[in-house]
Amino acid sequence: MAKIYSEGDGDLGALDGRTVAILGYGNQGRSQALNLKDSGVAVVVGNRSDRFRDLAVDDGLEPLPLSEATARGDVVMALLPDEVHQEVLPRDVFPSLKEGSAVVFAHGYSVHFGEVDVPDGHDVCLVAPKMLGPAVRTLYLAGRGFPSLVAVHRDASGRAWDVTLAIAQGIGSLRVGAWETTFEEEAITDLFGEQVGGSGAIVGLLRSFETLVKAGYDPDVVELELIGSGELVEVIRTQVRDGLLASLRNHSPTSQFGQLYRAAELWDSPDDGRLQRILDELRNGGFAEVWRREREDGYRTMRDLEERFSSHDFGRAEGRNRDRLRDVLHETLGSQ
Ligand code: NDP
Repeated sequence: MAKIYSEGDGDLGALDGRTVAILGYGNQGRSQALNLKDSGVAVVVGNRSDRFRDLAVDDGLEPLPLSEATARGDVVMALLPDEVHQEVLPRDVFPSLKEGSAVVFAHGYSVHFGEVDVPDGHDVCLVAPKMLGPAVRTLYLAGRGFPSLVAVHRDASGRAWDVTLAIAQGIGSLRVGAWETTFEEEAITDLFGEQVGGSGAIVGLLRSFETLVKAGYDPDVVELELIGSGELVEVIRTQVRDGLLASLRNHSPTSQFGQLYRAAELWDSPDDGRLQRILDELRNGGFAEVWRREREDGYRTMRDLEERFSSHDFGRAEGRNRDRLRDVLHETLGSQ
């Protein structure tokens, strides 16, 4: 079982007299910068262009070019999209690292797959919030927290864990807890969750839509049933709150029986090995290689795939229902 750190395990004293440079002011960057600042940590922001400059200034921070922010940081947090780490970190960040500074990532991807190699002599740490960026801020402001995964890849200073846990404390995660992991485990489980859950949802919904519409049912009624009404949000909310199976009691007996009956049918059907194949491709670096080539190729396959799935009839029914239900969905989904 993973070791779980909570408040009391993290000591913000590890950041006393030190500056944290947050590189990137997007989803995670802004929330983590503001949480650390409100926790009393000295923060500077590194940001490339004007896109988030005004926002950072309005937030009371002084955005600097990436290299300048890096040079000021005793702790440097790489909160840039993973796919640009390979290009941006060696060029704009690593040459400016202060002697003995720690580099903190929010996802294990680029380090685990060898896309970046932090220069020797620097701690390499992971504080990966298991939460969307904006919620990292709203939960902190609400006095609550969010879970994270934490790891140390290289402890050059002998204090890498102190820094890791101080960051987890400062962004508000230890209020809930931080699970100890490795860069490899965080990267693989995160990708597996996205790729299996996300692809299953897309295909399950589109195939269900096709089956019902082909049988003569109205596309808008079908889309409303499958996802458009927002009921699914409530279903997932109760699954998280009550537990996957315990939450079934919120459904009618017919629905409960139907879900379990069909689940057993799927569970007992022959395993086509797809999940194992996905895991193998993640672990042997096959997926990372495909994704690296895709980026070099200007995201051509990604654009083709987006076009292929978004031109499906499902999207038209979805658009009509979303227009009609705008206010209701706003209520169901909240402001985020
Ligand atoms: P974002 O896409 O929100 O990052 C945007 C920021 O990165 C902006 O400041 C942008 O600057 C900058 N940026 C983008 N491209 C470049 C570039 N080529 N050179 C310099 N700066 C660039 O990233 P996220 O916050 O979503 O992700 C950051 C990290 O957090 C990743 O490692 C991710 O895996 C991890 N993470 C993200 C989660 C999430 O909820 N999104 C959840 C948990 C972890 P500009 O405006 O100037 O382009």
